[in-house]
Amino acid sequence: MKISVSFTKKQRGRKDLNEKKYYMAIGNDELQDKPVVHEGDKIICPHCRKIHPLECALQNGVKTEIMMFYSCRKKSYLAAIENKLLGGLKKG
Ligand SMILES: [Zn+2]
Repeated sequence: MKISVSFTKKQRGRKDLNEKKYYMAIGNDELQDKPVVHEGDKIICPHCRKIHPLECALQNGVKTEIMMFYSCRKKSYLAAIENKLLGGLKKG
């Protein structure tokens, strides 16, 4: 699976990330057993232990749940891919 996304201004956070695209590869069965999440679902932050909502990435200017992020202390972190919560994160 190959995913390409761009970031909203808020998600970018840093100017130098402006027009970059990100690619990542994930094994087909790697996320199979992870909890299913959607935009607005809450996660327990591994950084500050507070609850943060999931935000969609943008793909060609359109919101997509293919990748979702959460924000903590003005930084954004990848939280979910194809609606599956990444390892190490828990629903809040
Ligand atoms: Zn946090």
